[in-house]
Amino acid sequence: MGETIMRTSVEDPVRVHRTLIRRVASGAPEFIDITADVIKAVEESGIREGTVLIFSRHTTAAIKINENEPLLLRDMGRFLEEAAPRDGNYRHNDFVIRTANMTEDECPNGHAHCQHLLLGASETIPISEGKPLLGRWQSIFLIELDRPRPREVVVQVQGW
Ligand code: ZN
Repeated sequence: MGETIMRTSVEDPVRVHRTLIRRVASGAPEFIDITADVIKAVEESGIREGTVLIFSRHTTAAIKINENEPLLLRDMGRFLEEAAPRDGNYRHNDFVIRTANMTEDECPNGHAHCQHLLLGASETIPISEGKPLLGRWQSIFLIELDRPRPREVVVQVQGW
C-alpha cells in the first residue's frame, strides 16, 4: 500500500497554520477530548495535504490519542495513578531541599511529571483531503495530570 500526493503547482509554497487551544480541567487525572477543536483548526487552515501536530506546552499535561469511552477513561486514569501515585515519595515535592524552579504557588506534583513521561507532549496526524486521518475509535486528548490550571495546546498544520 502506498500513495503519492503531488502538489498541483510548484509556485504553491508549503504553508504553516498555527492555532492555540485553551482549556482548564475540573480535576486530575482528566481526559479532555479536543478532537473537534483539532478538526476545526485543520479545516480553518485550508490545508488539504500534510500533517497536524498537537503539542502541549506543559510538563504535567499530556497529549495522547485513544478511545473516548467513559469506563476506559476511568481505567486509564487508574493506570496512571498506579504507575505514579499522587501520594508517592518524590524528591521534586520536597520543598525543604529543593531550590530549582520554585514558584510562589509551587505545589507537589512529582506524580504528574512521572505520568507525563509515559504519555508525552505531542501527537502528529496525517491530513488527507482537508481532514485528519483518524481511525474510527481514535480521539485526541489533552490529559491533565496535576490539578486544574490554565493549559495551552498548540495545533500546527503544515502542508499545502
Ligand atoms: Zn513540578
